[in-house]
Amino acid sequence: MKANFYELTFEELTNLMLEYGLERFRSKQIFHWIYNKKATSFSEITTLKKEIRYFFDKEIGLNLPQLIKKDKQEDGTEKLLLLLNDKQTIESVIIPAGRKTTLCVSSQIGCALGCTFCATGKMGFIRNLTTDEIIGQILIALFMIEHSRRLTNIVFMGMGEPLNNLDNIVKAIKIIKNEYGLNFSGKRITISTAGIVPKIYELSHKNLNVKLAISLNAANNKKRTQIMPINKKYPIKELISAVRAFQKTTKWRITFEYVLLDGFNNNYKDAKELISLLGGISCKVNLIPYNSISWSKFTAPSMNKVQEFANWLYPYLPAVTIRQTRGDKIAGACGQLATKYNYD
Ligand code: SF4
Repeated sequence: MKANFYELTFEELTNLMLEYGLERFRSKQIFHWIYNKKATSFSEITTLKKEIRYFFDKEIGLNLPQLIKKDKQEDGTEKLLLLLNDKQTIESVIIPAGRKTTLCVSSQIGCALGCTFCATGKMGFIRNLTTDEIIGQILIALFMIEHSRRLTNIVFMGMGEPLNNLDNIVKAIKIIKNEYGLNFSGKRITISTAGIVPKIYELSHKNLNVKLAISLNAANNKKRTQIMPINKKYPIKELISAVRAFQKTTKWRITFEYVLLDGFNNNYKDAKELISLLGGISCKVNLIPYNSISWSKFTAPSMNKVQEFANWLYPYLPAVTIRQTRGDKIAGACGQLATKYNYD
């Protein structure tokens, strides 16, 4: 089977060039044409000699997932359903907000972690996405918005636990950050994790300079384990130690995401526990009103209750934001992504 171009980092492409007896600088040309000029075949790269174009067409594929469905909500949020080579499907979500446009990228098909409030968790784990499938989500979104908006942020918060697919996520980030390609800054890339502690340490040594978000959702072990079984393996104290270690390697603030589940984690005592847990960490708390899923026992608190919870935190924590619910009507909001399609 042909290699897929989108799985190659710049260094890997350069090594391939040298292996094939081609000049090193050709990899800059190719990265530029594919990622900036959006060439979809090597024959479009007119700065390459004909025989090199022919050679690449023969040896390397340019295979992207297939966009099979788009759902757009009035607020502009757009959910994309993509078909992969093995007939599995994944979702990514484009979220425009003012001058910002964020792409929420999936890292796995399904998820093994089984958080009880999450539609992806309910699917179970099917497989990790490959690097080219991750890159494919980004390129397809770029094709879709290129005439109207600029992609400003990429968040690994779609289907799956990114740190359980760390190698492919790291490769994909190296590709999107490459200066000859998309040249995306690390400060505009966020990896969100449920708290795979050893992988947070591993990520901190990768020198990617990306932002880290922790899906926290409860400030004591009893409650957190109830909704996030991974907490049993990596309890809060270990998680916070890993976060502190990660923070030493980056200048960015850590984001703690806190999905507000009415009557479960949004009372005054919860707020006080959160304050004492996060006090002293350079962080931002992002409160996310729960996005309902038909089978879930949880419900979203009223906006008054969300605001009240935020008010309890404000004086004590450095930054508290309330995430505006986006894409909930198309099941594209946080925690709602789950594909039921498997195309034969
Ligand atoms: S919230 Fe994230 S880690 Fe938990 S089940 Fe859903 S996708 Fe997996």
